[in-house]
Amino acid sequence: MITTSTVARRPRWRSLALLALCLAPLLWPLQHLAERYYRNELVSQNRQTLDLYVANLLGTLHRYEVLPQILGDLPALRAVLANPEQKVTLEDANRLLKDICEQTGAEVMYLMDPSGNTLAASNWDKHDSFVGRNFAFRPYFSEAMAGRLGRFFGLGTTSAKRGYFFAGAVHDGDKVIGVLVVKVDLDRTETLWGKTPEQLLLTDHNGVVILTSNPEWRFRATRPLNQDEQQAINAIQPYPTRNPKPLNLDAKAWLTQTQQIDETGWTVNILAPRGLIDRPVRTAVAVGGATLLVLMLLLGLMMQRRRHYLDRIAFEAKARRELEMRVIERTADLEGLNSRLKQEVLEREQAQQELVRAQDELVQAGKLSALGTMSASISHELNQPLAAIRSYAENAEVLLDHERTEDARGNLKLISELTGRMASIIAHLRAFARRDRHAPESVALQPALDDALALLSKRRRAMEVELIRDLPDATLWVQAGETRLRQVLGNLLANALDALTEKGPPRKLWLSAEQTPEGVNLYIRDNGPGFSKEALARAREPFFTTKTRTQGLGLGLAICDTLMRALGGELLLANHPDGGALLTLHLRAGASGVNLQPPEDLSA
Ligand code: ADP
Repeated sequence: MITTSTVARRPRWRSLALLALCLAPLLWPLQHLAERYYRNELVSQNRQTLDLYVANLLGTLHRYEVLPQILGDLPALRAVLANPEQKVTLEDANRLLKDICEQTGAEVMYLMDPSGNTLAASNWDKHDSFVGRNFAFRPYFSEAMAGRLGRFFGLGTTSAKRGYFFAGAVHDGDKVIGVLVVKVDLDRTETLWGKTPEQLLLTDHNGVVILTSNPEWRFRATRPLNQDEQQAINAIQPYPTRNPKPLNLDAKAWLTQTQQIDETGWTVNILAPRGLIDRPVRTAVAVGGATLLVLMLLLGLMMQRRRHYLDRIAFEAKARRELEMRVIERTADLEGLNSRLKQEVLEREQAQQELVRAQDELVQAGKLSALGTMSASISHELNQPLAAIRSYAENAEVLLDHERTEDARGNLKLISELTGRMASIIAHLRAFARRDRHAPESVALQPALDDALALLSKRRRAMEVELIRDLPDATLWVQAGETRLRQVLGNLLANALDALTEKGPPRKLWLSAEQTPEGVNLYIRDNGPGFSKEALARAREPFFTTKTRTQGLGLGLAICDTLMRALGGELLLANHPDGGALLTLHLRAGASGVNLQPPEDLSA
């Protein structure tokens, strides 16, 4: 995100710089306008200055212009011209000229005779007095002698001061009897120019600078002089030099304004250094440039903000789109899940139905199986007493043959007892098949064991099996049923004898019992081959047998295990470390000497 935005931002700044470059030429018209404005300002300002100066100059000149004419009528001066030799009149004239000179502010006034000799002068008492000097070479003299007003600019021959001379003829009737000259100091008008950057330049009809605020420019020629002009200069010497050097002014550096003074043939120039315009123009351009820059920056900032704004909007739109996509995906997932769940529920329901059907079938099969098991159990359990009955009956027959009726009666009694027991077994199996439950009773262990051994005694003796009994003398009372306990013991002892048939002598059978805090443990051990590995794992399963069909049904241990669990006890199968099988019966202890319930009699 960051990288893309920085990448995207760079060209924007570049385009901004490009735009600034394109806008930069706008500064040129700005400069042009500013230049024009400031030049106009300067021009109008200088025009006023120039007008003022020219008016001032002309005012000064006009003030003195009429003086020669007026003074020429004064009797004191005319008297001098009438009688130049008279000292008193000369002195009067000198004093008069001096007075008037002081009053009018003229530099000097003097009176000449028609041949150009100065008779009286306002500076008669100064060391540079004009009295006695001849100025006939000056043009103003000849002008005045011709009856016109003589005008002349020139340096004072003695004072070397710049002055403007007015000369007028003194008439006696039509005759010119003398010339009166008034010299005006022009140096002073130059000093009137203040110390401004603008410079004053006053040129005469020759184009030579006669008045200027810049002393270096004084008496320099602003244009080349032609031959006539050069000759005139040589003749009348208006400047301190006969060869005015050229004034090479850089036209580009100065802004010049000019005004002609026709009556004197002068040109007044005011020169303003261009820097006066350049400086404010530069400032204006700088301000314009800065404004442009600020505008650019503002524009850039606005663009950047806009870009950020657009970026944010795009980002938010993208996030929204992603969210929508996720919602759509999630919805699709959920829909998929939902349909899968529906499918599963459907499958479950089908499975349930199948299960119910299978259970029904199983129940049916279980019923059939139970029927089979029961019939098998009946035949298995009844085999032993039947065999005993047969042997008792055979014995009774033999005894009757030998007329031993009492003994025969005993045998018949035993037969009767056995039939009773068989009925009881059948009743038990029936009750078991119906899942009837009988509350356990307290049964003496040793007599039940003796009974079971008695049924098998003939077979045991025939097989020469040594019986090793290790039972306590005191009767052990256990919670059981008389018949069921005898059934279990009979089955286990018969299995031991079966196992011992597979083995040669000596054949041994150990019977031991012990009282424990939990109840009574009875151990039945033989020295037969012991359980095979498979038999140890599967011996409790109905119909599991390792014996041939004739011998075993595989129901003995299954029946014993079920009976033991029904009695709240346990049957453990194991092999003894010294070989042979070791069967353990855990029985719950019963109350001693009392039958909790009447003895089982289920034959009825
Ligand atoms: P059956 O006696 O009809 O075979 P049982 O359930 O009584 O059925 O016994 C199952 C199997 O357990 C026998 O086939 C035999 O292999 C094994 N078995 C039972 N008792 C012993 C024993 N005392 N010694 C060795 N094997 C035994």
